[in-house]
Amino acid sequence: MRPPYLLLDIDGVLIPFPDTDGSTPATHARHDVVPAGRSADNPVTVWLNPDHGPMLMDVIRTGLVTPVWCTSWRQDATTLIGPLLGLPMLPHVDLPRPQITTSHPNGYLWKRDHVDAWLGDARAVWIDDDFTGLDHAWAAERTARGAATLLVQPDPHLGLQPEYLTEVAMWASQLPTGRAA
Ligand SMILES: [Mg+2]
Repeated sequence: MRPPYLLLDIDGVLIPFPDTDGSTPATHARHDVVPAGRSADNPVTVWLNPDHGPMLMDVIRTGLVTPVWCTSWRQDATTLIGPLLGLPMLPHVDLPRPQITTSHPNGYLWKRDHVDAWLGDARAVWIDDDFTGLDHAWAAERTARGAATLLVQPDPHLGLQPEYLTEVAMWASQLPTGRAA
């Protein structure tokens, strides 16, 4: 049985939301990046925690999970954000660009239907700041039918914390490695 996927969001996870006064955590460093399709004189400013790269690599190197970006940054996650954290070129879920004004157009995270189809029956741990109760119910339903699914939901103003990755490694290490009886 292959290791579960580790689906990784960026906004609200690696890039925290600013506080009401516009400040971001002192742990994060400012970068200007130019997403695909944007002109070089119109960069986007992002804030990243340099500790997140080594923290993620510690989990990736265990081989317990297969990391995949799952973010509206799409391929820019692989080519722009990952390298700023010292991460290797990770694949990404090729999410569509729906015309939506809320991240929960049907009461659950807009990415979920695409992720559900992409995963098939694969096991997965998904780190995203934007799940609703319906997403947690979806994860429980997948788990109940044998596709173990863990949702990890950081506070978007704080982003990824070390204990979440400890939880991911613990969860993945306790999964059966062979076919379930
Ligand atoms: Mg997010």
